[in-house]
Amino acid sequence: MIETNLFKRRLTKEKVLLKEMLEGLDSLDTMKLRTNFLSNNSKTDWSLNFPIHNCYPTPLCSGNCYACSGPITFKNSIKKSLKLEHTIENHQEYALLKLVDEITRHKLTNLRYSGGGDLSENSASFILAVAARLPNVIFWGFTRKISIAKLLHNSLPNIKAIFSIDSSTTEKTLNEIYANNWKTAWLYTSQDDEIPDDIYITFANHKNGRLDNTLPTLTSECPAIRNHDVKCDSCRHCFNF
Ligand code: SF4
Repeated sequence: MIETNLFKRRLTKEKVLLKEMLEGLDSLDTMKLRTNFLSNNSKTDWSLNFPIHNCYPTPLCSGNCYACSGPITFKNSIKKSLKLEHTIENHQEYALLKLVDEITRHKLTNLRYSGGGDLSENSASFILAVAARLPNVIFWGFTRKISIAKLLHNSLPNIKAIFSIDSSTTEKTLNEIYANNWKTAWLYTSQDDEIPDDIYITFANHKNGRLDNTLPTLTSECPAIRNHDVKCDSCRHCFNF
């Protein structure tokens, strides 16, 4: 069954918080993200988490969105993603220097840019600018937006982008993906899914943070799905191409 309320629920919360934050402003600086830009999680280690209002979700994505349940939907996490976006849009040089500093301090060799949400064209350009400053760090992630895939794909050697699809992705989008030869990730929600042979990585669906155990393990599955000792930093499949 397709559930659309997960995405809508978070989107509503995001809109209310953004309104509150903007109304509380004396100046734009109040919205500047002064704490860490980077967020921490057990799988990818570090990531940049963006708001979901930039997403173009498919019906299955919006019904099963991993950024729409659990701690990532807590008020402070959403506010942080909104401030991150606002800072990138309005204080670009500050944002660039700050992120370069955080990545350097943590000695990161890779960073996931889509820990939550999807990129706007503005934030994608920002990631490109940071990647140009740090050629030895790989910036990787997933998108469901043709415009973002076009911006990132073949842009810099240290930028990696994978297009996320599922059984509700439209034929028009699939045709665009195949015409551009983009790597793809599959959101696996049903044993009836007809998964393309050339899929690069599959993610078995979670509901409210719990793996749907009715889904069998596929050879293309992310190894961290069923083994929480696996980390992206050691696996590297999603950015080692
Ligand atoms: S396949 Fe590897 S790199 Fe990709 S998300 Fe899973 S653990 Fe991380």
